Amino acid sequence: MKSRTCNMESCPLHGGRPVWGAGSSSPICMLIGEAPGPDEDTYGTPFCGKSGQELTMYLKQFTKVSRERCYITNLVKCRPPNNRDPHVDEIAACEDYLTIEIAEKNPSVIGTVGRVATQWLLEIKVTMERVHGIPFRWDGVIGKSIIVPLYHPAYGLHSPRQMRDVIEDFTALGRVIRGQLKPRANNDIEPDYKLEEE
Ligand code: SF4
Repeated sequence: MKSRTCNMESCPLHGGRPVWGAGSSSPICMLIGEAPGPDEDTYGTPFCGKSGQELTMYLKQFTKVSRERCYITNLVKCRPPNNRDPHVDEIAACEDYLTIEIAEKNPSVIGTVGRVATQWLLEIKVTMERVHGIPFRWDGVIGKSIIVPLYHPAYGLHSPRQMRDVIEDFTALGRVIRGQLKPRANNDIEPDYKLEEE
C-alpha cells in the first residue's frame, strides 16, 4: 500500500503525500489516529517521531503487546495544514481507504487514538473524558469488533494526572485484547449536546 498515490482530486487534502497504514497483516489490534503530523509526513510512516516512541512504549509496557503485532493507521492519510484537526469532508473523502484497511485486517479490537478518531468511529459527539478506556461493541465493516477510545500518547506529556489516564487506557486495551474486559453497547452513550450543536 505504501507506494500507492491517491487520485481523489475532490479531497481538500489532495496534493499531499499520503502516509499509508503500516504493521502486521493479521494484527492483534488496529490503532487509528486522526492524521499524519510533521514527522509522519517526512518519513511516510504513521506514528513515528516522538509520539510514535510514546505509543510504542505504552503498547509494550501497559498493553503488553509489541507494536509489530498491531496495525497502525489514520483517518486521513495526508497531513492537514498547520497540524489542524482533519475536517469532516476530508475524513469522508478518505474513508474508503480506512474501510479497505479494516476489511483486509479484520481486527477484533480497535483502539481509536484521540478525540477525532473516537468520535468518527463511534459516530457520536462525546468528550474523551467520558469514554476513554471504556470498550464498546462496534458493528464494523465486515463483522463485530470492539472499540477502545484511547487518549493520544502526547496527552500524557502534560501532567502526571494525564499520564495516568493514558496508562489506564493502554492497560484497558490490553485487558480487552486478552478477553478480561467486556465491551458495552455503543448505543448506551448519550452524546454531549453542546458538542452536537457545534
Ligand atoms: S487525505 Fe485521503 S482521500 Fe484525501 S488526498 Fe489524501 S489519501 Fe486521498
